[in-house]
Amino acid sequence: TPGIRPLVAGNWKMNGTSASLNELRMIGNGFMSGLDAETEALVCVPATLLSRAAEILSRTPVRAGGEDCHIKESGAFTGCVSAEMLKDAGASHVIVGHSECREQRNEDDATVQAKASAAWRAGLVAIICIGETRAEREAGAALDVLSRQVAGSVPPSATPANTVIAYEPVWAIGTGLTPTADDVAEAHAHIREKLSEGLGASVAGRIRILYGGSVKPSNAVELLGVKNVDGALVGGASLKAADFLAIAEAYQ
Ligand code: PEP
Repeated sequence: TPGIRPLVAGNWKMNGTSASLNELRMIGNGFMSGLDAETEALVCVPATLLSRAAEILSRTPVRAGGEDCHIKESGAFTGCVSAEMLKDAGASHVIVGHSECREQRNEDDATVQAKASAAWRAGLVAIICIGETRAEREAGAALDVLSRQVAGSVPPSATPANTVIAYEPVWAIGTGLTPTADDVAEAHAHIREKLSEGLGASVAGRIRILYGGSVKPSNAVELLGVKNVDGALVGGASLKAADFLAIAEAYQ
């Protein structure tokens, strides 16, 4: 989208130990040497790796992010991590409403919206994920689902500085399947329109809308070239520095 700096973000999910930090070093080095400075890069890692990831990336243009956060700042929530803790560990962004969290932990739109607000409270950028399931697409309901998720998951005070939207068709995540360029264009235009209804056209026109779901080096140029696609959220392929860097190069 004209005037928008693309963002290529990785999501390591529940993958990675100390041994994986070398891939992060290679990603950081790749962005130091040669990659288009116009592309912003981020890798969201498990909370256990975040402070070391942030330290490794601190000398590079690549930033480190969290994969999820709790709504509250602190308290009796065993096993959970707050947005403030992620910020303290060196995160700049946090993913909220990933379909795996929506599905596996029954997160609804109201919860996702509260998590986005928690991210802002801590000074993090919220990457709000939305996307239809296969059944919803087959029933012709994909755009309706996106309307509902935008209205329910994106807080009314979202701005281009504090919010990124990630369109991730659930059936494309980790499956190797991708929507056609026309389907991606239709979904992204629809999301932009729904954001405009809630936030006004000038704010909505500057919010980045990423595509996510089986992005890899071989399809990145096509998917990231679609109108209204302002970057990618990359799962599996972000675990390999060479693949992640090759995807980011789609913008060169
Ligand atoms: C994701 O988890 O956000 C994702 C898009 O995964 P993958 O790239 O592996 O489909």
